[in-house]
Amino acid sequence: MASRNKIAIHWFRRDLRLEDNRALAEALKSGLPVQPIFIFDENIMSRLERDDRRITFISEQLTRLNQQLQKHGGTLRILQGRPVEIFRRLMTEADIAAVYCNEDYEPYARQRDAQVADLCKNADIGFFGVKDHVVFAPTEILKDDGTPYQVFTPYSRRWIEKFELAPPTVADELPRGKFAVGEGKQQAVTPESLGFTHYDGAFPTADFPRSVIAHYDETRDLPAVQGTSRLGVHLRFGTVSIRRLALTAYELNRKFLGELIWREFYQMILWHFPHTVSKPFKAIYHDMIYPGSEADFQKWCRAETGYPLVDAGMRELVETGFMHNRVRMVAASFLTKHLLCDWRWGERFFARHLYDFELASNVGGWQWCAGVGADAAPYFRIFNPAEQQKKFDSKNEYVRRWSGNDVNFFGTPAPEPMIDHRFARERCLKFFSAVRQ
Ligand code: FAD
Repeated sequence: MASRNKIAIHWFRRDLRLEDNRALAEALKSGLPVQPIFIFDENIMSRLERDDRRITFISEQLTRLNQQLQKHGGTLRILQGRPVEIFRRLMTEADIAAVYCNEDYEPYARQRDAQVADLCKNADIGFFGVKDHVVFAPTEILKDDGTPYQVFTPYSRRWIEKFELAPPTVADELPRGKFAVGEGKQQAVTPESLGFTHYDGAFPTADFPRSVIAHYDETRDLPAVQGTSRLGVHLRFGTVSIRRLALTAYELNRKFLGELIWREFYQMILWHFPHTVSKPFKAIYHDMIYPGSEADFQKWCRAETGYPLVDAGMRELVETGFMHNRVRMVAASFLTKHLLCDWRWGERFFARHLYDFELASNVGGWQWCAGVGADAAPYFRIFNPAEQQKKFDSKNEYVRRWSGNDVNFFGTPAPEPMIDHRFARERCLKFFSAVRQ
């Protein structure tokens, strides 16, 4: 009889959906009444700027999730604080038998989950982490000798082999089970109620743009058109199922599938090589000190480099929280190779502004562009921003859209190029050859 009051908790984090949610399904299958919770983690929130767009995104998604849960008789409990302290409190309030969550592979998340798992173990509560955020977890795609891949192509080959051998399944329905009787309607959370400002812009929808995906290989490099899926933010917060998307990609466009594999490649790299959060993947570059100046970095941040494609990208980023991938590459290469500024400065700036910020992909992307990462662009491949503009924005549509009519983002006249391309190229090559000696 004692078990009558026992409950299971499903802890939502990067999986803000009911559809094809593996840990939630496991929780429901346990037969225990399931109490879904979400924690606004103070350890993360305290480091965010007050106008961080992602707080608005999360708040909107939680409202939607709660409405869906209510249709199934559940109520999402939204909490704010440090996860370990929250769980301590929950344990005094309810008879918790088990905690379910989907695995998160970032270094901070692993440490957080290990602490909560310990707490549960000491209280005789089951703690179950389930794979959901990726098709293949970082330990599932390894070389024959059991070590992690460091190069993308053989990793992706193995990934596809495994995928074809056992394609992932997608659950269309929630399994039978019941939710704990909640405390009625959860009060809506708003960014303001959390001490943040509301972002009034729109976020991309979670619907798969099938025609974009089908033509992805033709349009993905053109920043002026809507030629990419814009699903990054939904993959980050789990508002779409990666399994469903990967199956769609396999059916419609292999190039697109390749990008989803890059995403898992970077998650795998970060999991096996957590030092890459703050250090280059390649040891040869660990002690490298970039000579680039803070003043030059500020010009880049303020879209005042005088290179239209770079400046357009920086304006798109600051104004909308998004930047096209081709332009991310050019802007990151410009900062690290033309200006010789530390890639970590740029990585943090992107992290602050991108609404689709994902630590593994951002660090991976930055190190790739800077030439210091796993399977990175070589240091001697230095994008020419003017040539890139000619090639990928030949009618200057993208640049014009973000140029502010020949004035820069801050309303002052458009600047001259801050550095000559040929000079910057030579300087970069000299710098890298000195570091590599
Ligand atoms: P699509 O082109 O439609 O691709 C579909 C999905 O595949 C993306 O949403 C993303 O999840 C994944 N993907 C695509 N390209 C890459 C890639 N090169 N590496 C890893 N995953 C990829 N992506 C992020 O999700 N978060 C970041 O913080 C991030 N920072 C980046 C920083 C730099 C310097 C660079 C060069 C790339 C970065 N990327 C990042 C990768 C890529 O630019 C974005 O995923 C993409 O632009 C998002 O737009 P989309 O959703 O339309 O992508």
